[in-house]
Amino acid sequence: MKATVNKIIPFSSVDGPGNRTAVFLQGCNIDCKYCHNPETRGLCTGCGVCVPECPEGALSMVQGSVLYDAEKCVQCDTCIHVCPHDSSPRTQKLTPEETYARVKKQIPFIRGISVSGGECMLWPDFLTELFRLARADGLTTLIDSNGTIPFWEYPALMEVTDGVMLDIKAFDCEEHRAVTGAPNDVVLANAAYLAENAKLYEVRAVIVPGLYDTRKSIQDMGRFLAPYLSVHKFRIKVIAYRPMGVRREYAVYEVPDQAYLESLADILKGYGFEEIIII
Ligand code: SF4
Ligand code: SF4
Repeated sequence: MKATVNKIIPFSSVDGPGNRTAVFLQGCNIDCKYCHNPETRGLCTGCGVCVPECPEGALSMVQGSVLYDAEKCVQCDTCIHVCPHDSSPRTQKLTPEETYARVKKQIPFIRGISVSGGECMLWPDFLTELFRLARADGLTTLIDSNGTIPFWEYPALMEVTDGVMLDIKAFDCEEHRAVTGAPNDVVLANAAYLAENAKLYEVRAVIVPGLYDTRKSIQDMGRFLAPYLSVHKFRIKVIAYRPMGVRREYAVYEVPDQAYLESLADILKGYGFEEIIII
């Protein structure tokens, strides 16, 4: 059982509580206009477009697949910018055991492991096994997800998952479709399921004025989520849209200012949320 891994960050302090190793899996099932890591969206097709573009000769084609030489790579990112498939030649196919071997080295320095993407729920069997290995060593386990895949269909995974960091990219279904190309009925059902089962660690909303009605979305989201605070506490991240890393055609939206973000946080405080992080 292998997953395509985009990268592993040994230490991250922004992917859940404490220091964590963050694993990013390749491939996504939706198409957010403001995606900040578009090179994680697609699986490599072996088209070869990136190979002659690498200034260091770190890429070559071998039997229809692109081969990457990490020793030669200078991390210039030319390959991901020229890739027509929102992919990267620097991904690796790894088993849960191979992935965990890289996490295990950090054990004295980390509290847990967080897996993101792309959309990591596209690899549920891999996640289940990776988390089993992490739990056996006393690490905590978090999933970062766009919420479009039903968590309740994976009870074995839920058993070894401590929490989920869930995106609600717009509360209104049609606005969610405009932002991502997909409806949000499963996202909201996931939010309720995870909250009821005390597995909702964090809800994330990226604020993109002009792309959807951000104030109304935060209001509706606060009203929807507030009743679950009586089951367990969870935090909300209000994240400002920033154009860095966004595909050129979508790097056009207004960046919200701090005062506006704080006004959205005030709405959430009004619904009883105590931990609201603005970034
Ligand atoms: S990384 Fe992109 S450009 Fe390079 S071979 Fe794969 S799909 Fe083609
Ligand atoms: S980032 Fe990509 S293009 Fe740049 S040196 Fe590495 S493999 Fe080559």
